[in-house]
Order: sequence, then C-alpha cells, then structure tokens
Amino acid sequence: MKIAQNTVVSVNYKLSDAQNNLIEDGAQPMVYLHGGYENTLPKIEEELDGKDVGYTSTIQIEPEDAFGDYDPNLVKVEERNRLPEPIEVGMQFEGMAEGSDEEPVIFTVTEVADDKVVLDGNHPLAGMALRFDLSVIDVRAATPEEIAHGHVHGAHGHDHGHGDIDDGEEGDHFRSQPLQ
Ligand SMILES: [Zn+2]
Repeated sequence: MKIAQNTVVSVNYKLSDAQNNLIEDGAQPMVYLHGGYENTLPKIEEELDGKDVGYTSTIQIEPEDAFGDYDPNLVKVEERNRLPEPIEVGMQFEGMAEGSDEEPVIFTVTEVADDKVVLDGNHPLAGMALRFDLSVIDVRAATPEEIAHGHVHGAHGHDHGHGDIDDGEEGDHFRSQPLQ
C-alpha cells in the first residue's frame, strides 16, 4: 500500500543535526497519520507521500520548516521563589510568553541559581537544521475513528486511557505544535 492521505505510516528513523551529531536514534518507530494532521513535520510527509514499505531516504529540514528559529525573547529570568521547589534543570512549565496573549508556551528550566531561574520557551530543537534517516516499515489504511480524531490509535498511538500499554504520545513525534 502506498503512503497517501489517511494512511497510518510506521517509519524507523534516526535524527541528527546538520553536523551529523546524533540527537535521537529512534529506538521505537514513529507511527503517524498521514495527510496534513500535523502528527509529524510537513517536510517528512512531503518526502514520504506516494512511497511504499522499504522506501529509505535521508532528508535535511531547515529550522523554518522544523521548530523555527531560536527566539531570544522567549528566554526569561524568574525569581526562584515564584516557582515550585524542588526545581531542577530540565523541568518544564506551561506559561505565557512576555507581551503575548497567544498560545501558552512550554518553558524548560535551563539554569538554576540561588535566587533566580532561567526559563527557555524555545522548543529544544529550535534553530537547528534536522537530518532524518527514514525507513518505511509499514503502511495501512487508517480507521474511520482515527481519521475523525486526526491521530493514530492502538499500539504506538493514542490510547484515550482505555488501557495502560501506552501513554499516548508515541503518535505525536516531531509535531510542529506543542502537545496539547
Ligand atoms: Zn483518538
């Protein structure tokens, strides 16, 4: 079956930066609903559209087509006493960007000092060109329910809490939008 609108695609991947430093080795395949549902990066869908099981490719995606340029305005310093304790580098909080009334942003703690904490609202992959080694391992038709929901169900997909096998995030790799 060829990859087309409303197919569920399983793809082994390896993610590196433009200098070929490994970022993620893709121990689990990425499984996504194809056809503009923002389950994965549009450039990946573009590359795989019309392809079949066994197709392999390496593509480089520039920041503007991945997670955007790094925005220094999304870095802010907070008083440590305004944040919960204990606080460590790598913790994430949802908050609003300075001077913005748009979507909330996920801030990652990047530095902790005695009385201040640095929060970075950029996606961890912002500003980076990403190189994907892709290898298509399965293509199937999506179910009507998956199409209605706009994401994959079952193994590696959304589970809606009807079981304890999956936490529901496997189908959302490399979304260009933050997780809801
Ligand atoms: Zn669903």
